[in-house]
Amino acid sequence: MSTPTADFRYSEILPTGPAAVPMRRLDIDGVDIARAEVAGTERTFLTIAPHVFSELARTAFTEIAHFLRTDHLASLRRILDDPESSDNDRYVALDLLKNAVVSAGRVLPMCQDTGTAIITAKRGADVLTDGADAEHLSRGVHAAFRDLNLRYSQLAPLSLFEETNTGTNLPAQIDIGLDAHGGYELLFMAKGGGSANKSFLYQETKAILDEQRLLDFLAEKISSLGTAACPPYHLAIVIGGTTAEAALKTAKLASAHSLDTLPETGDAATGHGIRDRAFEDRVLRLTQTLGFGAQFGGKHFCHDARVVRLPRHNGSLPVAIAVSCSADRQLVARIDADGVFIEELEHDPARFLPAAGTVEEIESGEVTPIDLDRPMDAIRADLSARAVGDRLSLTGTMIVARDIAHARLRATLEAGEELPSYFRDHPVYYAGPAKTPEGMPSGSFGPTTASRMDAYVRDFQAAGASLVMLAKGNRSVEVTEACREHGGFYLGSVGGPAARLAAECITEVEVLDMADLGMEAVWRIRVEDFPAFVVVDDKGTDFFARTRDAGLSLGRTRTAARDGTLI
Ligand code: SF4
Repeated sequence: MSTPTADFRYSEILPTGPAAVPMRRLDIDGVDIARAEVAGTERTFLTIAPHVFSELARTAFTEIAHFLRTDHLASLRRILDDPESSDNDRYVALDLLKNAVVSAGRVLPMCQDTGTAIITAKRGADVLTDGADAEHLSRGVHAAFRDLNLRYSQLAPLSLFEETNTGTNLPAQIDIGLDAHGGYELLFMAKGGGSANKSFLYQETKAILDEQRLLDFLAEKISSLGTAACPPYHLAIVIGGTTAEAALKTAKLASAHSLDTLPETGDAATGHGIRDRAFEDRVLRLTQTLGFGAQFGGKHFCHDARVVRLPRHNGSLPVAIAVSCSADRQLVARIDADGVFIEELEHDPARFLPAAGTVEEIESGEVTPIDLDRPMDAIRADLSARAVGDRLSLTGTMIVARDIAHARLRATLEAGEELPSYFRDHPVYYAGPAKTPEGMPSGSFGPTTASRMDAYVRDFQAAGASLVMLAKGNRSVEVTEACREHGGFYLGSVGGPAARLAAECITEVEVLDMADLGMEAVWRIRVEDFPAFVVVDDKGTDFFARTRDAGLSLGRTRTAARDGTLI
């Protein structure tokens, strides 16, 4: 028997209410009211001049480069105060809070990866513009990235295999939809590559629409996120979606907390999406058992979780997962008859720092100083005496190289030539800086995702290079095996606090080789008391292998056994 036809009813798929965030008015002229007769009816229109979009975008990207939401900072502070936090949870959370304080000085952006500019907007039916809204918004993005100490990360394709940096951080990703309500609503995001790379789609079936099976499925998938995108994360999970891309886009919006006002009960007539707060609690508790913690073991892998259930075709069940990283850069804005408004971010992050005694207590504990200005064998002998998970304080010279430099160095090897001596004589830091502010030794300069360099490690170590590596996130089994075979080490730096590293730990920066690569050049840097953890050692031990196992073994038995309830 076929399904009977129901009457027409309409709802947006994501029927959200107004953003419940504090807003402040910007001093931007160019928003006016116009009245006109249309088809015999007197109508009122909101007219928006082109420069309004540019000035708004410039202001928004300036704000999110330097400031975070109050809730995000309060959540970091809660990690410090939580008696169940691990020492490493507290250490990372404190480092991120200190980073927020440096960044709020408006000179060093909070992260060296200042992101892809993303703008999602809804334009009301009463709004009149010249129609080139996206171009005007892009002009504002251009101005922010030109005038601030940010980084250009966008590569233009010249052909299928050739690409070049656009030198502007454009193009931005801009999506503007229509809305029956009045005015203009906008969401600005600056999404770093590491964070964007943690958006995943799984094409599942109805078989996982069972509470325990879904938790088991999520335990495995959330574990596979690892730490490369600088947790603690704002985690978003979307179950369903009219298409795969709808699920992914919804996950990104949910990770920015833009869907928090979704209804919590479904509607058979319209099929709109819903938010499930009870399941969000379960997912958050699940993340607390995985062992990753805030990067180096503990409880706080995630600040929070959002779970959105969407309508779906009965033959598809997309599941999307996305995160917002420690550079939780987003801001909502509104243009209406009263003017231009943006979300108020926290301009005084220092108020979330604990008292001096607590800071010292968190930062105390065993820390091994490592002098990097010695032969590589001496450095490795010191590291070999440490265990994975141990804290280090690095002082001395490092070489900085990332993706393109690694590809060129491999080409050198493949041509039968020796790797440059600088690459064999010093530890390598995988990173690429933001612009250097005038009068400072370094721009924001945090680690990039180590796993992108995994494919080079075995060959480079066999050639006597990359024997001590420093970056963020977990690595493949191949890297662990190469370290065991060649006596190598992978050290983890806290991911996220790039402004603090630039302000307090990096004392000299110079381009050493491949200057044509811009921020991807090979740099020589000197560091002082640069914090790091031993993650992979020369015995073939991987700190994260324990968490990988923990996540994958979270099956029905274990999740049900905790306290008699489901996770
Ligand atoms: S905090 Fe980490 S994941 Fe986020 S943008 Fe910065 S480097 Fe990328």
